[in-house]
Amino acid sequence: MSFSRDICRLCGSPLQDAALRLLHPVSSEILPLISEKRVQTEFRSCSNCETVNVVNDDSRRFLGYGSPWLRYTEPAQHFPDVLESHSHGPSAEVSRVVGLSEKDESLVDFLSMSGSRSTANRVFSTEHQEWQSVNSGKSKTLWVARRFLEHINDSSMIEELLGDVVNVGHFLYVEMLDFEEMQNHLSGLYLWPERTLYPRLEVVTALLQAYGFKIVDVRRCRQNKNSFWWLIAERRTDSARQDFRRSSHPGSSTDVVSHFTKTISSVTASLDRFCGQKTAALFGVNHKSQTLGYCLQDMGWKISFHDGSPLKIGKYSGVELIAPFSAIPSSTECILMFFNNNTTLELERDIKKRSAHVSIINMAEY
Ligand SMILES: [Zn+2]
Repeated sequence: MSFSRDICRLCGSPLQDAALRLLHPVSSEILPLISEKRVQTEFRSCSNCETVNVVNDDSRRFLGYGSPWLRYTEPAQHFPDVLESHSHGPSAEVSRVVGLSEKDESLVDFLSMSGSRSTANRVFSTEHQEWQSVNSGKSKTLWVARRFLEHINDSSMIEELLGDVVNVGHFLYVEMLDFEEMQNHLSGLYLWPERTLYPRLEVVTALLQAYGFKIVDVRRCRQNKNSFWWLIAERRTDSARQDFRRSSHPGSSTDVVSHFTKTISSVTASLDRFCGQKTAALFGVNHKSQTLGYCLQDMGWKISFHDGSPLKIGKYSGVELIAPFSAIPSSTECILMFFNNNTTLELERDIKKRSAHVSIINMAEY
């Protein structure tokens, strides 16, 4: 296993000095006990491909679901488009669809049920031996890698997957948040230490081409507040990886860092109007509330985390106990709501009845 603080996980070039430092837990998992301390994380961009690398070595970070009792839902509305692209392109010949991690399960099932393809020996594991044992069969395979490359801690997994596991004539599906497009959105809170890389689409396609892949189809999608892209690529040659140089399109990957810092400044500027004592309760424990909560704590805020789900209440986000909505500390000046559903209004009315002095700020749109 290899990890370096100074080398880009994608292209192996030196990283520039840190553009941002955060003191956060590495994973966003919600755990029954306090088991994760905060660690210093640096965000450094690559001198060659410009991809932001998140530098803190933690092999637990996550390519699957660490807490089996809590499943996150990946977007699925684009599956019919993926099927259409898959069925009419060269990858229609595959007889097998294999997922690399548990996050691929829903798409693997969708593609398999929509055709006669087998999903026998699905992997949903990041163990190299398991990848290889699945690969030993003769079936032409579509390897599905959603939320995968950008979460890799150990760069040798990229070499294994692209250089060794996907055979010539086989296909790879890659899906990733569209970080460039997301910079045009209001929020920068999608940046957090659990993700290890923030590559542009052009950088990923250049990486695949360096390993002998031909891009068969690529599409950009927007759903709700998320923008993402997906592509299907075919491995054409198994020669050694070619040099992977800066894309010919000068990029803006490093802007994810400035976009994030601008978001934090604008959020804190508006919160300062309501919270002179810097005390806030965060309602809804998710990636965004965790990221903002830890940043506010770094700036001296007193933060409490709350949720309505019995799966989260009484457990920990990092070192923070997750309390029910009813347990707001008496010093709390404002409540930041990170969800907007049919219970939100009722909850707001209830809070106003009990604590009229508390300001409620809806962060769901961030
Ligand atoms: Zn690089």
